[in-house]
Amino acid sequence: QAKAAGKGCFNFYSAEMTKRQEHRLDLEIALRQAVEEGQFLVYYQPKKSTSANRVCGFEALVRWQHPRLGLIPPMDFIPLAEEMHLVDRIDLFVMRQACRKGRIWREEGHDITIAVNLSGVNFSADDLPGQVAKVLEETGFPAEYLELEITESFVIDLAVDKREVLQRLRALGVRLSIDDFGTGYSSLSYLKRLPVNTLKIDRSFVRDIARDSRDMMLVSSIIGIAHSLGLKVVAEGIEDTDQLGILVSLECDEIQGYLIAKPMPADMAGVFLDGASADNVTTPI
Ligand code: C2E
Ligand code: MG
Ligand code: MG
Ligand code: MG
Repeated sequence: QAKAAGKGCFNFYSAEMTKRQEHRLDLEIALRQAVEEGQFLVYYQPKKSTSANRVCGFEALVRWQHPRLGLIPPMDFIPLAEEMHLVDRIDLFVMRQACRKGRIWREEGHDITIAVNLSGVNFSADDLPGQVAKVLEETGFPAEYLELEITESFVIDLAVDKREVLQRLRALGVRLSIDDFGTGYSSLSYLKRLPVNTLKIDRSFVRDIARDSRDMMLVSSIIGIAHSLGLKVVAEGIEDTDQLGILVSLECDEIQGYLIAKPMPADMAGVFLDGASADNVTTPI
């Protein structure tokens, strides 16, 4: 009897495990197919310049348009894509789409930049700078308006030979931005060695900035250091006017967050851009 129960128990867990493995396998097959077919949508979240009080750019953020499951957020498939060595193809897909749109918006007279996220895994892929150069050539988007966001934790771990990849990207004329800045828990000395242009302060520092004076001091210091090194500072995750007021007073260069707009599909971003340049009362700065 006991043996039977034990066996039943074992079967239960093994069935559960098999199910999970099957789910993962399904997801892997679906993701591979998604990459083949380009089942991805690019959403755009505006960034505003605090000094000029205008929309100065968009960050491109990928979503997977799964045929059955609908829109899947990046956090639910980018890590798997990284493991499967598919993320470079996704990132280049997003870059191509966003540069195409960016070129159209610029030709319409909007002075905007386009930022895309690059997984650190890409730095081991074949000739990343060459691939980026190809996208720029194909889309006709000017390199100096393209910003590549790389997360801080990755940049810190970057081996010396991979740092050369950053130099080669900079040599194309694109800008480099350290994303989620402040979460890497590292000495800041790497900032002087890396050819980066922008620090993007992580949302976790912005969240309590109006309530927690320590967060405010941290952000104030980061902005001070960045400016003294000649770097631009972007703050992400601004959700209310208190946070906005503080960041403006700290002379943060650009701001991004739900207060200005959530990420949106390309057609809506175009409408947003036209509206924003038609009148500047859309957001309270
Ligand atoms: P991230 O690059 O730090 O992007 C910011 C994330 O915060 C976005 O989530 C955005 O929708 C969200 N966000 C923006 N403003 C606010 C706000 O005011 N409040 C809150 N609560 N959230 C805000 P999303 O689109 O889900 O992207 C999550 C992460 O996935 C990104 O973080 C980025 O690391 C990664 N990711 C997105 N697109 C790509 C891509 O094309 N390639 C790669 N490799 N990673 C991507
Ligand atoms: Mg980003
Ligand atoms: Mg970020
Ligand atoms: Mg982030």
